[in-house]
Amino acid sequence: MEKYVYDFAEGNKDMKDLLGGKGANLAEMTNLGLPVPAGFTITSQACQRYLAQGTHVDGLDEEIDRHLAALEEAMGRKLGDPADPLLVSVRSGAKFSMPGMMETVLNVGLNDESVAGLSRQAGDNDRFAWDSYRRLIQMFGKTVCDVPGDEFEDALHKAKVAKGVKDDVQLDADDLRALVSAYKKVFAKHVGHDFPQDPRHQLDLAIEAVFRSWNADRAVLYRRQERIPADLGTAVNVVAMVFGNLGPDSGTGVAFTRDPATGESGIYGDYLQNAQGEDVVAGIRNTLPLADLEKIDKKSYDELLGIMATLEGHYHDLCDIEFTIERGKLWMLQTRVGKRTAAAAFTIAAQLVDEGMIDLDEAVTRVSGAQLAQLMFPRFDLSADPSPLTRGVGASPGAAFGEVVLTSADAVARAGAGKNVILVRRETNPDDLPGMIAAQGILTSRGGKTSHAAVVARGMGKTCVCGADGIEVGRDRFTVGGQVVHEGDMISVDGTTGRVYLGEVPVRPSEVVQYFEGDLDPALANEPLVSAVHLLMTHADEKAKLKVRTNADTGVDAARARRFGAHGIGLCRTEHMFLGDRRELVERLILARTETERNDALSALQPLQRADFLDIFREMNGLPVTVRLIDPPLHEFLPSLEELAVQVAVAKERGEDSPRGERMLAAVRRMHEQNPMLGLRGVRLGLVIPGLFGMQVRAIAEAAVALAAEGGHPRPEIMVPLVGAVQELETVRAEAEKIIAEVVGDSGVEVLIGTMIEVPRAALTAGQIAEAAEFFSFGTNDLTQMAWGFSRDDVEGAFFWRYLELGIFGISPFESIDRDGVGRLVRIAADEGRAARPGLKLGVCGEHGGDPESVHFFHEVGLDYVSCSPFRVPVARLEAGRAAIESTGSDHR
Ligand code: PEP
Ligand code: MG
Repeated sequence: MEKYVYDFAEGNKDMKDLLGGKGANLAEMTNLGLPVPAGFTITSQACQRYLAQGTHVDGLDEEIDRHLAALEEAMGRKLGDPADPLLVSVRSGAKFSMPGMMETVLNVGLNDESVAGLSRQAGDNDRFAWDSYRRLIQMFGKTVCDVPGDEFEDALHKAKVAKGVKDDVQLDADDLRALVSAYKKVFAKHVGHDFPQDPRHQLDLAIEAVFRSWNADRAVLYRRQERIPADLGTAVNVVAMVFGNLGPDSGTGVAFTRDPATGESGIYGDYLQNAQGEDVVAGIRNTLPLADLEKIDKKSYDELLGIMATLEGHYHDLCDIEFTIERGKLWMLQTRVGKRTAAAAFTIAAQLVDEGMIDLDEAVTRVSGAQLAQLMFPRFDLSADPSPLTRGVGASPGAAFGEVVLTSADAVARAGAGKNVILVRRETNPDDLPGMIAAQGILTSRGGKTSHAAVVARGMGKTCVCGADGIEVGRDRFTVGGQVVHEGDMISVDGTTGRVYLGEVPVRPSEVVQYFEGDLDPALANEPLVSAVHLLMTHADEKAKLKVRTNADTGVDAARARRFGAHGIGLCRTEHMFLGDRRELVERLILARTETERNDALSALQPLQRADFLDIFREMNGLPVTVRLIDPPLHEFLPSLEELAVQVAVAKERGEDSPRGERMLAAVRRMHEQNPMLGLRGVRLGLVIPGLFGMQVRAIAEAAVALAAEGGHPRPEIMVPLVGAVQELETVRAEAEKIIAEVVGDSGVEVLIGTMIEVPRAALTAGQIAEAAEFFSFGTNDLTQMAWGFSRDDVEGAFFWRYLELGIFGISPFESIDRDGVGRLVRIAADEGRAARPGLKLGVCGEHGGDPESVHFFHEVGLDYVSCSPFRVPVARLEAGRAAIESTGSDHR
């Protein structure tokens, strides 16, 4: 038979799946001999059962009976005993922390009789007893029986008005007794029966209510956003109540074993005298710094410090703690490995290595690429300590300031006039896209991390704060509390913390970027954060199996990526080299009527291309550079069909002759495609326009030979895009090999020829394609587009927010690899490609190459490298190291 209930002495910290985070850690502390009130945990499996059946779980009652009896025995009191009652709290606690999302009921066991017993226990403190009772009816009513909370608040308000006082604490025992009667009436009116007096019945109902709260709307939404599986369920902790509100020798607080903001060691936390934990959370009264507890109650303070040291030594990490002091006796109510900022995560991991608590492998797994990315954004310089105007959800990191604009059109207009703007909207929709592109940052009053604004801003790498529900957005202004902010006023938004400031807050460059760039101010060299980043990155590089290359198509980007630690270029897109003043040459190529005209245009382009490649090969001297032959449809280089048609029609109307315009229009019409992404692009273009790929191949080979002649060591790799069949690749290869042999001669330069795998058919016929390819590079942007049938340029702004809201996927498949679908194509191609050609080099150059989650997947598949934009290179390096460490396992300490 399944066991549904565990005494705290039966569990441990590794049982989070079953006991939830809170229950597992309460058990761990109990077994460490720390002062934890007695209690037991009902497993998340019992919750799953209850939710699946919608009713009562067989056998659970009997188990609760047994554990309750043990709890009563340990405490020397019986639940709800009129003379000397045991009271319990009933608290949720899932595997992953979901702060405030689920329910808690305190003071279970109080009724019309035991309230007197509680008063006696508290030294004839009637006020305390009646206050506890009214809190129970209020919490129980709201949580267990769905009584509208406002009705209790109204009754409390009336009691204060009747007495002529402002604060709850000014109500005396008689007032609270009367309030209990009023609350009971509210309860009976809504529920249809009286407030239950049987303590055991109260307990059962409270437990079921906590089970049900797993599926409350806000919990469901939170899980979707945080990607917590919906079927885990919550455990329920039943714990003997201890009271922090029994007088000045009682209180409650939170403590951190290190500063969760910076990672510095010291005493951090807050204490509130004569209060319950809920009062701290509600922020009703101002807390004292934890250090002040030393003066108030030195014995408890010293004991707490000892316990903090024990917990850190035991968990080998920053712990956060909730505690209560009941009349001078310290009780531990919760601990967990504490949340921390990105900077603190790095600093603490390095400190723990220094202190000998963890090894370097473990330290690297304690930080993440996402945290590193956060540290690489510029930040606001908050040394002047500006107070935030309001706060929302930090949806897309970065620091931006600008003038307030309230419509997309205004954003475009003002940005066009050279201003920095922040687009402020209630929420955004696809029509706001131009304004979002024009703005430095985006601020919305509605929506969370998966709203349209958030998804699109992240996709664009633009700073965004959403769901700042303290602001009211109007036509030409927005208001926060009483404050009015007009269109044109300057504001600053912090997409990392979600804070919004009035005025322009100065922006500070990231010292971590300076460190990677090699231009760190020497004064910062020993700064703990920089040293920590250095230590952990060095170790990650040592452990990584995946190499990290970069996507770069200029010498400047290549050089930066190299400073950031790139091992070469995984994708040099050549199409940008056809823009700007070279457009005219491309037009000549497209409009060519004879072979001679076409060859002339190609010959004019060729030296320009050679110079481009030489620049890049120089910057990446000694490292591989994958140059991809031109990919996009050629009409992208021509004027738009509509504009051109209008120009030609106007010229005709005026009787002007424009043969060039008409020729161009005819060409644009000829090349117009309904689905250009599925049309004449990539290898297809190379096969249709004679000499185009040949020109590029020659330029690549000549640039390599030129660098070799300078004494350099070029390692060019030619990559053919959009291949779906081996025959396409073979045709291009045959021509390329001829040119390469001719150019390279005996210069010693070696040129590899490979292909992108970005069409599903290529992945499925990889065994054949590998016969003609020395390497594969997965183009997961197109592979995702074609595997899902999603237009990569449209869908994220158009409807992904809805897909995310519905939980169809937790994150855009263009952002993080879809392991089951697109990932399966990658695996098939990798396996079949390597089976056909054992030394086949495998990499990925789609956007996923810089996404932390996806990097782990590519490590698992056994690729040789990932390639990503220069700024993502450090992130990918760190994740490659983490993936290697996590997959080999380590005893960590
Ligand atoms: C890809 O499709 O993943 C790729 C890298 O090529 P592009 O983004 O240039 O289409
Ligand atoms: Mg592509």
